[in-house]
Amino acid sequence: MRKFLPYGRQWIDDADIDAIVEVLRSDWLTTGPRVEEFEAKFARTVGAKHAIAVSSGTAALHTAVYAAGIGPGDEVIVPPLTFVATANCVRYQAATVVFADVHPDTLLIDPAQVVAAASERTRAVIAVDYAGQPADLDDLLTMARDHGWILIEDAAHSLGARYKDRFVGSIADLTTFSLHPVKHITTGEGGVVTTNDDRLASRAKLFRNHGISTDHRQREQQGAWEYEMLDLGFNYRITDFQCALGHSQLDRLEEWVARRREISARYDDAFRTLPIEPLIMRSDRQSSRHLYVIRLRLQKCRAERATIFRALREQGLGVNVHYIPVHYHPYYQRLGFRRGQYPESERAYERLITLPLYPKLSDQEVRQVIDAVVNVLTELCS
Ligand SMILES: *Cc1c(COP(=O)(O)O)cnc(C)c1O
Repeated sequence: MRKFLPYGRQWIDDADIDAIVEVLRSDWLTTGPRVEEFEAKFARTVGAKHAIAVSSGTAALHTAVYAAGIGPGDEVIVPPLTFVATANCVRYQAATVVFADVHPDTLLIDPAQVVAAASERTRAVIAVDYAGQPADLDDLLTMARDHGWILIEDAAHSLGARYKDRFVGSIADLTTFSLHPVKHITTGEGGVVTTNDDRLASRAKLFRNHGISTDHRQREQQGAWEYEMLDLGFNYRITDFQCALGHSQLDRLEEWVARRREISARYDDAFRTLPIEPLIMRSDRQSSRHLYVIRLRLQKCRAERATIFRALREQGLGVNVHYIPVHYHPYYQRLGFRRGQYPESERAYERLITLPLYPKLSDQEVRQVIDAVVNVLTELCS
């Protein structure tokens, strides 16, 4: 029987379930000891001084933009080829989104395009580690230092990735992660902000708890009832049972990233002769392989991307497309963005298909993916 294989999915084992159940039987369901334990382990894992856990990857992005001090009138540079949340978090703080196109080799934000997009009002850049490959962090950090910008890294795809022997999460001023089930590890919904900067970390902690200076547990421990709301924040807290799950999942991160790399290498080998233009992997960094995308050479095919997509679906592959360029969405069109403005993101979008890739994929399922892709592309392309 052929199985339906989604493009990404979680892996929950008995240790994860036991960890959650233990918290459900305890005194703290939220803002208890598990949150800090998870944060400490996450920070150790990526080599950051601080990790602040929040309720989603989107909340992590919003928290980072707040911590960076972004507000009305400020401009933040983001790539168009990403999930909408990367740009939306700028709008949440009533700041202005400025897009800088991606580089065609890597589909990472192009530092030359960042220079072209910058203005007197630029305050930050949000780089996306597309598919798991770290962005051009040295170039972007140099630019940020020269101009006084904050570098935020949207690392929703790149937990466990390395850039020149450092883990993603320890390099940019602020790095954000998502713990959604399709990502490297999961807490159901969840996110993390990491930073080495004490001031940015304390602003992030304030923001996730309404802008209030102490949390409920701290007040309980001190036997105090006073609290002060110092700034306008949100309830972006994550629960203790989610953090128990995250803590347990982190034990398998290394093994899972290795498996993602192994499967990706197998795909690379199997697809070498197909009409696919591979993404270039820069030699100074190691992708943690969140997504495996194929970029079709459509001029060699008799069918459109949509037809190829449907044919792969019929073979049981839960293929997807990452991403519809952010500026194509009606909300961003209403802000004045137009199709044609970011040609590299647009050309990539028209040719991309995301294949199933997750650690739980068995060797036999990997075979199913390879056979389906080879069959469909052999039939529909020259
Ligand atoms: C998943 C993702 C997010 C949002 O994370 P959520 O946890 O779903 O809110 C943001 N940016 C990118 C690039 C993502 O892939």
